[in-house]
Amino acid sequence: MEDCIFCKIINNEIPSSKVYEDDDILAFKDINPQAPVHIIVIPKKHIRNILELNDESLLAKIHRVIKKIVKEQNLEEQGFRLVTNTGEDGCQTVKHLHFHILGGIKLSENL
Ligand code: AMP
Ligand code: ZN
Repeated sequence: MEDCIFCKIINNEIPSSKVYEDDDILAFKDINPQAPVHIIVIPKKHIRNILELNDESLLAKIHRVIKKIVKEQNLEEQGFRLVTNTGEDGCQTVKHLHFHILGGIKLSENL
Protein backbone atom coordinates (compact mmCIF):
# COMPACT_ATOMS: atom_id res chain seq x y z
CA MET A 1 0.00 0.00 0.00
CA GLU A 2 1.27 3.45 -0.91
CA ASP A 3 2.42 5.67 1.94
CA CYS A 4 2.68 2.76 4.35
CA ILE A 5 6.13 2.65 5.89
CA PHE A 6 5.91 -1.07 6.65
CA CYS A 7 4.84 -1.88 3.08
CA LYS A 8 7.91 0.08 1.97
CA ILE A 9 10.08 -2.03 4.27
CA ILE A 10 8.50 -5.19 2.80
CA ASN A 11 9.26 -3.92 -0.73
CA ASN A 12 12.83 -2.97 0.27
CA GLU A 13 12.12 0.65 -0.61
CA ILE A 14 13.45 1.61 2.81
CA PRO A 15 16.07 -0.37 4.73
CA SER A 16 15.44 -2.42 7.84
CA SER A 17 17.32 -4.79 10.04
CA LYS A 18 15.49 -8.03 9.24
CA VAL A 19 15.44 -10.91 11.67
CA TYR A 20 12.97 -13.20 9.86
CA GLU A 21 11.33 -13.37 6.45
CA ASP A 22 9.14 -15.80 4.53
CA ASP A 23 6.45 -15.46 1.86
CA ASP A 24 3.85 -14.16 4.31
CA ILE A 25 5.66 -12.62 7.25
CA LEU A 26 8.51 -10.22 7.97
CA ALA A 27 10.19 -9.38 11.28
CA PHE A 28 12.70 -6.57 11.80
CA LYS A 29 14.28 -4.56 14.59
CA ASP A 30 12.37 -1.51 15.74
CA ILE A 31 14.17 1.68 14.70
CA ASN A 32 13.49 3.24 18.10
CA PRO A 33 13.88 0.35 20.54
CA GLN A 34 12.08 0.53 23.87
CA ALA A 35 13.95 -2.48 25.28
CA PRO A 36 17.20 -4.38 24.51
CA VAL A 37 15.12 -6.67 22.31
CA HIS A 38 12.44 -4.84 20.32
CA ILE A 39 11.31 -6.65 17.22
CA ILE A 40 8.33 -5.88 14.98
CA VAL A 41 6.48 -8.79 13.35
CA ILE A 42 4.16 -8.02 10.42
CA PRO A 43 2.14 -9.82 7.78
CA LYS A 44 3.31 -8.92 4.27
CA LYS A 45 -0.29 -8.30 3.29
CA HIS A 46 -1.39 -4.79 4.22
CA ILE A 47 -3.96 -5.28 6.99
CA ARG A 48 -4.72 -2.20 9.09
CA ASN A 49 -5.03 -3.80 12.50
CA ILE A 50 -5.92 -6.94 14.47
CA LEU A 51 -9.66 -6.32 13.94
CA GLU A 52 -9.21 -6.43 10.17
CA LEU A 53 -7.34 -9.71 10.27
CA ASN A 54 -9.83 -12.37 9.15
CA ASP A 55 -7.42 -15.06 8.02
CA GLU A 56 -6.88 -17.34 11.02
CA SER A 57 -4.21 -19.33 9.21
CA LEU A 58 -2.18 -16.11 8.86
CA LEU A 59 -2.56 -15.49 12.59
CA ALA A 60 -1.31 -19.02 13.24
CA LYS A 61 1.73 -18.33 11.02
CA ILE A 62 2.46 -15.10 12.89
CA HIS A 63 2.20 -17.01 16.16
CA ARG A 64 4.71 -19.58 14.93
CA VAL A 65 7.15 -16.84 13.90
CA ILE A 66 6.77 -15.05 17.25
CA LYS A 67 7.63 -18.29 19.07
CA LYS A 68 10.66 -18.85 16.82
CA ILE A 69 11.99 -15.32 17.43
CA VAL A 70 11.38 -15.55 21.19
CA LYS A 71 13.42 -18.73 21.23
CA GLU A 72 16.23 -17.31 19.09
CA GLN A 73 16.42 -14.19 21.26
CA ASN A 74 16.58 -16.31 24.44
CA LEU A 75 13.46 -14.71 25.89
CA GLU A 76 11.68 -17.93 26.84
CA GLU A 77 12.85 -18.19 30.41
CA GLN A 78 12.80 -14.56 31.49
CA GLY A 79 9.71 -13.65 29.50
CA PHE A 80 8.78 -10.79 27.23
CA ARG A 81 5.87 -8.56 26.27
CA LEU A 82 3.81 -8.90 23.08
CA VAL A 83 1.93 -5.74 22.07
CA THR A 84 -0.31 -4.80 19.17
CA ASN A 85 -1.37 -1.17 19.45
CA THR A 86 -4.70 -0.59 17.75
CA GLY A 87 -6.35 2.63 16.65
CA GLU A 88 -6.31 6.08 18.14
CA ASP A 89 -6.55 5.27 21.84
CA GLY A 90 -4.13 2.39 21.38
CA CYS A 91 -1.57 4.89 19.99
CA GLN A 92 -1.10 2.94 16.75
CA THR A 93 1.19 5.14 14.65
CA VAL A 94 1.76 2.77 11.72
CA LYS A 95 -1.54 1.60 10.23
CA HIS A 96 -0.23 -1.81 9.19
CA LEU A 97 -0.88 -4.65 11.64
CA HIS A 98 2.22 -5.32 13.72
CA PHE A 99 3.23 -7.07 16.89
CA HIS A 100 5.97 -5.69 19.13
CA ILE A 101 8.14 -8.28 20.89
CA LEU A 102 9.80 -6.51 23.83
CA GLY A 103 12.26 -8.11 26.19
CA GLY A 104 15.79 -8.48 27.45
CA ILE A 105 15.10 -6.37 30.54
CA LYS A 106 12.54 -6.27 33.36
CA LEU A 107 9.80 -4.19 31.79
CA SER A 108 7.74 -1.58 33.60
CA GLU A 109 4.55 -2.81 35.23
CA ASN A 110 2.89 0.14 33.57
CA LEU A 111 2.31 -0.07 29.84
P1 AMP B 1 3.05 1.66 16.85
O1 AMP B 1 3.23 2.91 17.67
O2 AMP B 1 2.51 0.50 17.63
O3 AMP B 1 2.27 1.92 15.57
O4 AMP B 1 4.51 1.19 16.47
C1 AMP B 1 5.18 1.56 15.32
C2 AMP B 1 6.61 1.20 15.55
O5 AMP B 1 7.28 1.21 14.31
C3 AMP B 1 7.36 2.17 16.48
O6 AMP B 1 7.88 1.46 17.60
C4 AMP B 1 8.46 2.73 15.59
O7 AMP B 1 9.67 2.94 16.27
C5 AMP B 1 8.58 1.65 14.53
N1 AMP B 1 9.11 2.11 13.27
C6 AMP B 1 8.70 3.19 12.54
N2 AMP B 1 9.42 3.30 11.42
C7 AMP B 1 10.28 2.27 11.41
C8 AMP B 1 11.32 1.84 10.51
N3 AMP B 1 11.57 2.50 9.38
N4 AMP B 1 12.03 0.75 10.84
C9 AMP B 1 11.79 0.09 11.98
N5 AMP B 1 10.82 0.42 12.86
C10 AMP B 1 10.10 1.51 12.59
ZN1 ZN C 1 1.30 -1.57 4.82
